[in-house]
Amino acid sequence: MSYSPVRVIGGGLAGTEATWQIARAGIPVILSEMRPVQMTPAHHSQELAELVCSNSFGAKQSDRAAGLLHEEMRRLGSIVIGKADEHQVPAGGALAVDRAVFSKELTQTLARHPLIELCREEVPHIPPEGVVVLTTGPLTSDRLAKDLLDFTGMEYMSFFDAASPIVIGDSIDKETAFLASRYDKGEAAYLNCPLNKEEYLHFWQELCNAEQAPVKDFERENAKFFEGCLPIEELGQRGEDTMRYGPLKPVGLFDARHGDFKAPENQSKRPYAVVQLRQEDKEGQLWNMVGFQTNLRWGEQKRVFRLIPGLEKAEFVRMGVMHRNTFINSPELLSPTLQFKKRPTLLAAGQLVGTEGYGAAAAGGWLAGTNAARLVLGLEPIILPKTTMMGALFEFITSASPKHFQPMPPNFGIIPPLEKRIRNKRERYGVYRDRALADIDLAVRCPPLPKGG
Ligand SMILES: Cc1cc2nc3c(=O)[nH]c(=O)nc-3n(C[C@H](O)[C@H](O)[C@H](O)COP(=O)(O)OP(=O)(O)OC[C@H]3O[C@@H](n4cnc5c(N)ncnc54)[C@H](O)[C@@H]3O)c2cc1C
Repeated sequence: MSYSPVRVIGGGLAGTEATWQIARAGIPVILSEMRPVQMTPAHHSQELAELVCSNSFGAKQSDRAAGLLHEEMRRLGSIVIGKADEHQVPAGGALAVDRAVFSKELTQTLARHPLIELCREEVPHIPPEGVVVLTTGPLTSDRLAKDLLDFTGMEYMSFFDAASPIVIGDSIDKETAFLASRYDKGEAAYLNCPLNKEEYLHFWQELCNAEQAPVKDFERENAKFFEGCLPIEELGQRGEDTMRYGPLKPVGLFDARHGDFKAPENQSKRPYAVVQLRQEDKEGQLWNMVGFQTNLRWGEQKRVFRLIPGLEKAEFVRMGVMHRNTFINSPELLSPTLQFKKRPTLLAAGQLVGTEGYGAAAAGGWLAGTNAARLVLGLEPIILPKTTMMGALFEFITSASPKHFQPMPPNFGIIPPLEKRIRNKRERYGVYRDRALADIDLAVRCPPLPKGG
């Protein structure tokens, strides 16, 4: 039986994995990669699956979020993780690879496959017909980005990522942080970390002295996009009180545990400044630090933000960032199968759909590629179990609040909680791991998932 080829656009981590899974299902596939004809501002080579910055995929151990994602992908027959395993270099607990050999081998393996045609071309428009997988990443070419914008609508695409850190709810000290909304309006939707004057001044000084990450040239050119969204450290540098009149303003926020906050005798209990955290997921496991978009180095963010009362032991699932990043509003546009709701034969994966990191991009490629092949074969697209790291990630990006949607890396905060809570974090993550791998194995044993190897 002959099938029309699937088009995959963009040969990064996601596109490489998607292409392999489609070919593996016996379907011809045309992979279009614009390098080296047209380079992005961050890539250096013409190889597929180039690792643009670090050579590390993150933690190796399967009771860590990245490690669990890798193990699930191994069991699902991921070519990206398979090659990463083959070409790993010593890096302590991380899965790091010899980047040149890793990408070269993936390029050669795909180029040699009889069902894969590798075209070195920029695709300026979404192909109007057939099954198509978009995997053009955070630096999607301008022409395709414009076409995608016309397809999705202006409000459903972002070109810059100005994100605040996200903290696991369990790691916030609820003896100090209190639930309330400003002036008690609506339901108490924010966790508030109060600072007295001394705590505020100490935090402000450390923030102003903290080390910033270097900004890339192509990001500096676009700095104007950030004007309405200043980094918290820049607000700090504008003056001692600037943050207290901005995101840290204390007005209308009282700790209900101190009694009726409207009573005159409680007015003196008003905090000097307040850091607010907004709920990020339905279950309340993830909390976003409001107004804390930042360019600080990640280590510095942890050091300085843990000075905030209530966040002393904060566990961050995502650090604050401000950089160029093209991504679509997946909660509005995609199903958890990674199909566009308005055109189910168009799928997308990778950083473009708001997952973050190399492993997560390849994982999206696995699902979009598998589902693209299934569409051609006339089979139902699949959704991965939510108890797995992959399933939880795709569930999150397609069901988060569209209004505040920001990219998300794999993390245990998005996994559905256990029926019986385990207090010890390492033990809890071990149980999450066992449940996820059992569910992946079950899904592989029972069709329709393909077997690993
Ligand atoms: C500067 C920078 C540094 C980063 N550092 C890290 C890091 O250290 N660790 C980490 O985990 N993540 C990092 N990331 C995020 C990283 O981009 C993703 O983790 C991962 O590369 C995303 O994979 P992807 O397949 O979605 O996109 P990519 O790997 O970027 O692949 C997209 C591909 O599409 C091609 N393309 C774009 N437009 C077109 C078009 N119109 N036609 C044809 N081809 C096209 C591009 O040339 C590219 O090869 C970084 C991102 C940037 C921008």
